Amino acid sequence: MNVWQRGDERAPHKPLLLLLALGRLQRGDPRLVRFVEIEEPLTELLRAFGPPRKPTPHNPFWYLESDELWVFEGSTYGLAGPTNTPRIGALRESETHAGLPLEDFEALRADPELLASVTRTLLESHFPESYRDDILAAVGLSLEPIDTIHVRRRDPAFRHAVLRAYEHRCAVCELQIIVRGVVEGVEAAHVKWHAARGPDEVANGVALCALHHKALDRGWLGIDERHVLRVSDEVSGNQTFDELVGRFHGRPLRPPRQPEHRVHDDYRDWHWREVFRGVAA
Ligand SMILES: [Zn+2]
Repeated sequence: MNVWQRGDERAPHKPLLLLLALGRLQRGDPRLVRFVEIEEPLTELLRAFGPPRKPTPHNPFWYLESDELWVFEGSTYGLAGPTNTPRIGALRESETHAGLPLEDFEALRADPELLASVTRTLLESHFPESYRDDILAAVGLSLEPIDTIHVRRRDPAFRHAVLRAYEHRCAVCELQIIVRGVVEGVEAAHVKWHAARGPDEVANGVALCALHHKALDRGWLGIDERHVLRVSDEVSGNQTFDELVGRFHGRPLRPPRQPEHRVHDDYRDWHWREVFRGVAA
């Protein structure tokens, strides 16, 4: 799939449209849909799992066809402008339907293993692992238990090195859990995601508890250029939220033991631009 690319900006639009289409397929919904039928769920997916920019559901609906993973049935006349830019108004009014190519649709419907494997590939190529269940739930897809066969090709040395660098505790809340001498509940988070070609190096990692790992991956928390934690204005919750997340706003990220292991600015900056939900200036 030819994902729209400008530098290392995230472009999860096509993968999310495909996952939405796969969820429909698994539920037995019709293969073809009008843009208006899919605009709202796709917008919600982009809002929840896309970069912190205005969602553009018309783009994948239009451009996915060029990857031969999407077909239009009916006239496409007038749906895009002279430079092949889709016109959202025309798409909304159009009676033209689109969906997965018939052959692919039938192959996927006939073979749940193939469906699961395509789904996993889409998820792993574009999102960190912590997104997986939430995206599956949002598009209504379920994977078969064959999941367990799959082995992630991740460097286990990364996890060890990051946990060691941060003295086996969460760099946000300092949580440390030791079970029979083994650290549990503290994870090595990639600041620039693995799925965005972030490297397995300590300067791209930070040790976090499960909650703060999720908070970083989902952009509730950001790390500013002084390595101070920021909680996005977009996020709020109850008193427990304030105690577990909100109160860290303005606190420094706990530095690693050795200064050379500090999160590198390239990765921190990528996260700030592409993932963090933002704060008012
Ligand atoms: Zn924590």
